[in-house]
Amino acid sequence: MSVLTLVAPITGVVTPLRAVPDPAFASGTVGQGVAVDPLDAVLVAPCDAVVRHIHRARHAVTLDAGGVEILLHVGVDTVRLEGRGFTALVDAGRSVRAGTPLLRLDIDVIAQGAASLLTSCVVLTPGVEVEPFVGGTHCRAGTDALLRIRLPETAVAVAGGAKEVGPSSSAPDVQTRTVIVRESSGLHARPAALLATIARGFEAELRLAKGARAVDVRSVVGLLTLEAACGDALTLTAAGADAEAALDAVAGWFGGATPYTMTSRAPILTGTLRGIAAAPGLAVGAVRQWAAEAPVRPRRTEDATGERRRLEAATATAGIELETLRDRLIAEGHAARARIFDAHLALLRDPELVSEAEDRLLEGFAAEWAWWSTCAAQAERLRGLRDATLATRATDLRDVGRRVTRLLGEGEASVDALAALAGLIVVAEDLTPSEVVDLGRAGVVGLCMTSGGANAHAAILARGLGLPTVVGIDPAVLGVPDGVEAILDAGTGTLQLAPGAEACEAVHARQQRAQARHAADLAAAHAPSVTQDGQHVPVLANVGDADGSGARRALAAGAEGIGLFRSEFAFEHRAESPTEAEQVASYSAAAGGIGVGRPVVIRLLDVGGDKPLPYLPMPIEANPFLGERGLRFLFTHETVLRTQLRAVLRAAAAGPVALLLPMVTTLDELTRVRALVEAERVALGAPAIPVGVMIETPAAALLADRLAASADFLSIGTNDLTQYALAMDRTHPRLAAQADALHPAVLRLIAQTVEGARQHRRPVTVCGALAGDLAAVPLLLGLGVEELSVDVPLIAAVKARVRGLTLADCRVTAQAALACADATEVRALAAARHGEES
Ligand code: PEP
Ligand code: MG
Repeated sequence: MSVLTLVAPITGVVTPLRAVPDPAFASGTVGQGVAVDPLDAVLVAPCDAVVRHIHRARHAVTLDAGGVEILLHVGVDTVRLEGRGFTALVDAGRSVRAGTPLLRLDIDVIAQGAASLLTSCVVLTPGVEVEPFVGGTHCRAGTDALLRIRLPETAVAVAGGAKEVGPSSSAPDVQTRTVIVRESSGLHARPAALLATIARGFEAELRLAKGARAVDVRSVVGLLTLEAACGDALTLTAAGADAEAALDAVAGWFGGATPYTMTSRAPILTGTLRGIAAAPGLAVGAVRQWAAEAPVRPRRTEDATGERRRLEAATATAGIELETLRDRLIAEGHAARARIFDAHLALLRDPELVSEAEDRLLEGFAAEWAWWSTCAAQAERLRGLRDATLATRATDLRDVGRRVTRLLGEGEASVDALAALAGLIVVAEDLTPSEVVDLGRAGVVGLCMTSGGANAHAAILARGLGLPTVVGIDPAVLGVPDGVEAILDAGTGTLQLAPGAEACEAVHARQQRAQARHAADLAAAHAPSVTQDGQHVPVLANVGDADGSGARRALAAGAEGIGLFRSEFAFEHRAESPTEAEQVASYSAAAGGIGVGRPVVIRLLDVGGDKPLPYLPMPIEANPFLGERGLRFLFTHETVLRTQLRAVLRAAAAGPVALLLPMVTTLDELTRVRALVEAERVALGAPAIPVGVMIETPAAALLADRLAASADFLSIGTNDLTQYALAMDRTHPRLAAQADALHPAVLRLIAQTVEGARQHRRPVTVCGALAGDLAAVPLLLGLGVEELSVDVPLIAAVKARVRGLTLADCRVTAQAALACADATEVRALAAARHGEES
C-alpha cells in the first residue's frame, strides 16, 4: 500500500467537505476530500501530477497523480460564470509539481456570481482510503498537508477504469441509446459525479461517446473530458449482464430533463441496498429523503460583543431545550436513553468548543458561523481519528451545532415537515439524536442512514424507540426519489426498492403475525416460563436506572428478578461519584421496585473501555478494551470499590441482593474482592450476600471450574465474551454483522462455563444480549444455562419462547451447534429445529 499526501491547493480556512453548500460534494457523492475557504487568489497543485483536464469554464481542474484522480473545484455554481474570474496558468497534459500554480482567481468577480467560494479538493478514485490531517484550521497553499491517501494496489486498477476508452466493442449484447445533455452548464463536476455514481451501481460496462470519443461512465474525469455542453447529443452504450437496467438508469437521468438542482439526486428506482442492522424490525412505506440542514454561510460583522451576546443567549436556550427533551424521555420511561442529551448538554458547555467559537467571534465572524463552523470542524476531527466510537460522537457535535444555529435564526425548524412524515421510511446521510426522537414521534416507520454505526447515539435511540433502522447503507440510497415504495428489513440490514405488491403484502402479513404474537406474549407475561418438559427457566431483567423505575417496569413486564443491575449508569454524567447513601438509595429502590423476595444482582462499577467517567482519572490507552476496565479499574480506585461494596451490603436490608464482578480474568481477582466484601461486611455487621463472577473473557470461561469453586454463581456477559473471543470490537460499525454471539467459538466457551459451574453445583445465568435473542434461547437452554436476564421490552417474548421449547430437543440442537463452522450455520440449524424466531 502506498501513501500520497495532498497539500493545500489554496491558502484559507480548512472546512469539512460536508459544509460545502452543494449536496453532491457535501454528501461525498463526488468523492472524499476536504474544502478550503479561500483567503488567496492562486490555486496550486496539491501534489506532483499530470493535469488531465481543465474545464472550459476554468473553475475545475482534474489531476492524475499516478493513477489517483483528484478534482479541484473552485466555489459552488461557478460553472455558470463561464470562465469569468478564472485564468488558467497551465494547460491540460502538463506535468506539475506540488505547489505549481494552476489557476489565478479574481475573488471579487467570483464571489459576486457564485453560491459559495468554498473550494473542494476531492479524490475521485474509488477504493482508496482518504484521511484528513488533523491540524489547524488555516492552511497555506502548497505547504500544509491536508489529506493523506492510502492507495491499495487494486485501487490503481480501478483508477485505470477512469481512463478514456475507445469506441464500444462489437460484442453482441451491446445496447445503445442517444441522450441529450439538458443541464444548462453541460456535464460539469456535479452531474458527472452523479452519473458516475449511478453507473457504479451496475455491473454492465457503460460508455458515453461524444462523436468518436467514448469514456467510461464510472469515471468523473472521463465524463468531464467530454466537455459535453447543454444540447449535445451523446451516445450511451451498455454491455454486460444488467446492461438494460443500467442503460435505463443512466438514460433515465438524462431523459428526466431536470437540470441538476441543489436538492435533486440521481434517481435509483429498483434493487436492494445493503447496510448494517442497527434497530431491528420490518417496515413497508414510501421513501422520503431527509434534507440535510440548510448550510450556514460565513458572515462577518463588526460587533463582536453583540455577537457574543447572541451566541450566549442561543446556547442558554439550547440548554433549556435539551433539559426539556431529556426530562420528557425520562418521564416516558427512557431514562437510559435520556442520558444522550446529558452528553449534548456537556458538549454545549465544553470549554474547548466555547473558546474556539469565541476565537472565531474575535476574528469577526457572526455568531452562527462561529458556532457552527467550530462544531463542524471538531466533528470532522473526531471522524478523522478513525475511532468508531469517537466518529459516532461527531454526529452529536453536529446536533449541538445545528440546535444553536437554528436558535440563531439559521436553518428552519422542521416541525411542519415532520408532520407529513407519518408512515414513511426516512433516508438521510446522517441523523442526529434529536432528529431521531422527532422522527419517531412523527410516526415514521423506518430509518436509513448512510453513515453511523450500530452503537451511534442515533442508533441507540432508534432501538429504544422501536424504530427499525439500518445504518451505513449504500450511499446510492440518497438517489432514491421520494415516494418510491420500499421494504426496510432492519433485521438483515436491507432496503428493497419497488418490491411489488405481493412482497409488500407478505411483509404486512408478517407484521400482523408479529403483532398478534407480541400481544399474546404480553398477555401471558406473568405466567411462569416453564419448558414443555417442565423445566422452569427464570427470566430476569437488565436495568440500570438510579430511581427504581427500571425495576418497576421490569416487574410490570413479568420479570422474576433483576439479573443485571448495571451500576455504572448511576455514576455517569455527574461531577463526582455518587455517595454511599445515594448508592444505597438506588440499589434499595431497585429491590423495592422489583418486588418482595425477588433477587437483585448488582454489578460492581464497570467503567473503562467504551465507558469513561469524567471525574475519575482514566489512563489514555491504545486499546482501552484491553486495558484498565471493570475490576482492574476498581482495584486502582479502592475507595470507590469499598464505598460501593458497603452500599450493596447495606441495600441487602431491602431485599435479596447479590454482588456481581465484571471483567474477571483470574481467580486472584475474585479472592481479593471476597476479602474486601468480608471486611466491610464485618465492619457493618451486615449479613453475607452471594458473590457472582461475570464470564466475559475467554480466560474466565476456560477457568470456570476454578472460579465456580469460590463464586456463588456465574453470569455470562456475551457482549464482551463475543468481542474478546472473536477479536472484534463491540462498538465497531463495520464488524457489527460478523460479531455474532452465536459463533460456535462463543458457544463452546458457554458450554465450558456451564460444565465448570456444574462441577460445583453453581447456577449459570446469561445476561448479555444473546439471552434476548429468540433464536439463541433454545441453544442456551440446551447448553445448560439456567436463567436468562434480558432488557425489559424483551421479557414477555423470551418467556413465551421458553414455554414453546422442549429441553430435551434443545440439548440435541446445542450439541449439533457446537460442531458448526460459523454463526450462519448455527442460526440455520436453530431455525430449522426450532422455527424462525425474530
Ligand atoms: C456483557 O458484556 O455481555 C454485559 C452484560 O456487560 P456490558 O454489556 O454492560 O458490558
Ligand atoms: Mg460486559
